[in-house]
Amino acid sequence: MSKVSDKFFLENMNAIEVNKIHNSKSIAFILIGSCENHGNHLPFGADFLFPLNLVQLVLDRIIKSKSDKAHNFIVLPVIPYGVSIHHIDYEMTISLRFSTMIRVIEDVLNSLATNDVRRVIILNGHDGNIAPAETAARNIKNKYPEMVIACLESWWTLVGQKNNNTFNVWSGLGHGGEAETSAMMAVRPDLVDLSLAPEQTIPNLPSEDIRIYWKFNELTKTGSTGAPRLATPQKGEAIINILTNLILDFIDKMESNNWKYGTAISNTK
Ligand SMILES: [Zn+2]
Repeated sequence: MSKVSDKFFLENMNAIEVNKIHNSKSIAFILIGSCENHGNHLPFGADFLFPLNLVQLVLDRIIKSKSDKAHNFIVLPVIPYGVSIHHIDYEMTISLRFSTMIRVIEDVLNSLATNDVRRVIILNGHDGNIAPAETAARNIKNKYPEMVIACLESWWTLVGQKNNNTFNVWSGLGHGGEAETSAMMAVRPDLVDLSLAPEQTIPNLPSEDIRIYWKFNELTKTGSTGAPRLATPQKGEAIINILTNLILDFIDKMESNNWKYGTAISNTK
């Protein structure tokens, strides 16, 4: 199955195509996920499969709506592993250490910088990658101040905040929960088996404001939390809509200011 956006994936390009596309105005997407148990109803790759499909949908929309605008998009090959040490008690969790993950992201960013790519959007699909992505990005930003590194850190919390009417329980939250299961139903329905989804589990935690660094098997017996049985493809479409709009809006704003922000653009009105 070949999509229009396929030509923006580095793994599909040859050297001539790559040379046409990488420059200081290129926008590179780094996709990071995990390989871990998401309950009986979702695949181990859910955390990278969703960003991978999301970026395709974003690019498809850009291509359709703005074919006159020659954006130089480069989607890097997906990084399928992440920091999953909090899921390590479940079967076949393949986890990188924090130090490894920081270095992987740093090395990828560094490689982009040495190829003159200065505009980067990280699409993250997994909570354990939030801290390493920030550490890596800040280190590289320190080394290459002219680089712009942005990150969609936590789409699964964002979609509930942006549109609380979409979800019935716990703002859609949960690992393999209402939002995550719906998202997978929208992009890879062939990999979702809702008949195996566990009953609703809302972790019993004392506070939403003070974070406990739990291990996941302290929260649930199933590898999944939230309310996956309430997932629907329609909710998944709503999620895609929210995220696609948000990413396109970000790119539009950045492009209109030549990827400058803050004091680099006028701050007087
Ligand atoms: Zn995850």
